[in-house]
Amino acid sequence: MESKKTLAQSETEKPDKGNASVIVDAAGIKKYYTMGNSFAGKRNKTLKAVNGVSLRVHEGEIFGVVGESGCGKSTLGRALLRLFPLTEGRLLFEGKDLSSLGRRELKPYRPRMQMVFQNPYSSFDQRQRLGDALAEAGKVCGLSRENTDARIKELMEVIRLPDEMLERRPQELSGGQLQRLAFARALLPAPRFIVADEPVSALDVSVQAQILNLIIDLKKQMKLTMLFISHEMTVVEHICDTIGVMYLGEIVETAPAGELFSHPAHPYTQALLSSIPKTHPDEEKERIVLSGELPSAIDLPKGCAFAGRCRYATAVCREKKPEAVKISPGHHAACHLYQAG
Ligand code: SF4
Repeated sequence: MESKKTLAQSETEKPDKGNASVIVDAAGIKKYYTMGNSFAGKRNKTLKAVNGVSLRVHEGEIFGVVGESGCGKSTLGRALLRLFPLTEGRLLFEGKDLSSLGRRELKPYRPRMQMVFQNPYSSFDQRQRLGDALAEAGKVCGLSRENTDARIKELMEVIRLPDEMLERRPQELSGGQLQRLAFARALLPAPRFIVADEPVSALDVSVQAQILNLIIDLKKQMKLTMLFISHEMTVVEHICDTIGVMYLGEIVETAPAGELFSHPAHPYTQALLSSIPKTHPDEEKERIVLSGELPSAIDLPKGCAFAGRCRYATAVCREKKPEAVKISPGHHAACHLYQAG
């Protein structure tokens, strides 16, 4: 196999992404939380929510981050928006280093980096008319009332909802309608980057498809650049250009979506894909059942964090942390099965 590189270095060998500029360039991002209370005589422990993630998101690209609950996906999304101080790592947004900027210095960047949350009902004030909620978002982003009104009108057409919805309150709308408005609110200041954190997980399956189609349309119409977080492989398959598979705070495999689904390299990715139901009764498919306990992010094992559940684990896996290795252009996996020599 190829020489050892970090995922960030390997990005220079990405498959053709045209001349798309890099919007988000993250290198070695870490977010640790200190747990416990040293005053009570207990030793503090460190929860490693994000443990050295490197990735690049190009203009017009939807980068999917997929993994089990608690693997650090949401923390990663918030870290890329600099919603809190990073423990370590470098974060460039449109070439500007945001890694250590303070709250005030980050303010001009806020309108250009937006977020859509999982539950549309809890992301709006239940007492507020939706038109007022959007107008308020425009004001916070520094838009004039005139520009906000014009932009809301434009976006209502894009999300295909009638203007009269703006007169209603959140509980009067369905989850799908409200999530459309959540996207409109995020798009109001014409952001350069959106983090969508499980935006369809709280919706009925039939409505999920409508929102995914909306995201595909937005991408085409607006060259939307997005980090799309999900725990469902089937969801990311349909809308993402590139997928990063996350396990216990780290991205263990990155590849173009088609490549990841046809040639998954990391044993964890293989297990996730094996859990997708067959599309035809005659389809031959091996279900890989993960044995062993999911380690705690407070007490990460030495070596490969997946070793306790991996059917290919050897002694070296338990001792040495695998580095990311190039599998094919744009496809990298951190696993000893692919390490040189
Ligand atoms: Fe499995 Fe070893 Fe690869 Fe980890 S490094 S995924 S334990 S084979």
